[in-house]
Amino acid sequence: MVAARGKGLASAERMSRLGTESAFEVLAAARALEAKGHKVIHLEIGEPDFDTPANIVEAGIRALKEGWTHYGPSAGLPEARAAIAADISKRRGIQVSPDHVVITPGAKPIMFYTVFALVDEGDEVIYPDPGFPIYESLIKFVNARPVPIKLREENQFRLDVEELAGLVTDRTRLLIINSPHNPTGSVLTERDLAAIAELCAERGIAVLADEIYNRILYDGKHRSIWTYPGMDKLTIILDGLSKTYAMTGWRLGYGVMDPDLAVRVSRLMTNSNSCTASFAQRALIEAVSGDQSAVDKMVATFRTRRDLVVDLLNDVEGVTCQLPPGAFYVFPNVKSYKRPAKAIGEHLLQKHYVATLGGTAFGAGGEGYLRLSYAASEAALREGVSRLAAGLATL
Ligand code: PMP
Repeated sequence: MVAARGKGLASAERMSRLGTESAFEVLAAARALEAKGHKVIHLEIGEPDFDTPANIVEAGIRALKEGWTHYGPSAGLPEARAAIAADISKRRGIQVSPDHVVITPGAKPIMFYTVFALVDEGDEVIYPDPGFPIYESLIKFVNARPVPIKLREENQFRLDVEELAGLVTDRTRLLIINSPHNPTGSVLTERDLAAIAELCAERGIAVLADEIYNRILYDGKHRSIWTYPGMDKLTIILDGLSKTYAMTGWRLGYGVMDPDLAVRVSRLMTNSNSCTASFAQRALIEAVSGDQSAVDKMVATFRTRRDLVVDLLNDVEGVTCQLPPGAFYVFPNVKSYKRPAKAIGEHLLQKHYVATLGGTAFGAGGEGYLRLSYAASEAALREGVSRLAAGLATL
C-alpha cells in the first residue's frame, strides 16, 4: 500500500479493480432530489415493493423472543440447511442433502465465495453481457480475465451456445449464467441449458447458476442446469429469499453445491461473516416450508404490471420493448435516440424525476437500452412511463 499523504488513506491496488452496482448510486441520486422536495418515480431498484409475508415476520419475531440471538454454525443452522435442501430437491427435481447447502447474508456472498474458492489469477470466467454488474467486478477483483458473452435482443437476450463454445479455452474455470435474467428478464430454454451443460460437462467447467429469480417466471417451469448429466458436481446454484419472499433487507441467501466445495465456502463464511443471523434463519425455515400463497399472489401482480409496462413502453415514440418471460425487469430499446444510455438515464432522472438505469450499468452490451424495474405500483408505472416519454421527447 502507498502511504497516505494528507489526503486520507491510500487504496490498496486491488480496489481499483472493484466495480459497483449502479442501482444503489442512482437510488442515492434520486433520494437527493427527493430531499430537495421533488417527487421521484422509482423504477431503478430491483426489489419487490411488497411487505414480507406476515407468517415469516411472525417467525422472525418469535425467534428473537426465543433467544435465537447467538452465533450459529458458519454454513447455517442444521434445520435451516435441511429446509433449503428439501425445498431445492422438491422444486428442482434433484436430490440434495443439507451438506450441499451454505446459508449466507443475502445471495451476493455466494458470487464472492464461488469466485474466491475456484478462480485463480489469470483464469478466465465467462459471464453474461449485459448482466448483473457484480459478476464482472468480482472477476476483475481476483485478477482473473473477464470474458463477456453477449446477450442479444435478436436472440431474446439469451446467450448463443455456439458463441459460448468459441469463447471456451483451457483457462476457462467458471461460467456464470443467470436465468431468469437481470436486467433483461430473459429465460434460457431447455435446449440452451442442455447444450451449455454438454459443453461444460465435457470440459469440466464449473457453472455458477444464478437462479435468484426462479420463482418469478410467467410461463413454464424453472429448470436448473444442475439437472443435466454430469452437472451435479459442477453446478453452484445461487438462490435466496430477497426476491421470492420480498425479504431484501433480511439478508438471506444460499448456495447449493457439491459438499466438498460447501466445506471451502463455509471456511470463507467463517473468515468473513462468521454466520448468517440466527433469528433470520429461523424465519427462513418458515418462508420455505410454510404457506406459499403470498409468492403466487406476488407473481400474479408482477405479470399484470409486466403486461402493462410493456404496452405503455411500446406506445412511446422511438421505443420498442420485448415481453420478458421472467424476473421483474424490462429492457426497452432506445437506440433511435442515438444517445448514450447512461446520459439518457441521467436526463430522465434530473429533468423528469423518473429513476431508471442506463443499460450500460450492466456492461457494454447494454448500450442503447434502459432497464426499468416494474416492482412498482400500476400508478407509478403509468406516471413513470409518461415522464420517460416526455423526457425522451426533450433529449
Ligand atoms: N443475483 C441477481 C441477478 C440479482 O439481481 C440480485 C439482487 N439484485 C442478487 C443476485 C442478490 O440478491 P441478494 O444479495 O439480495 O440475495
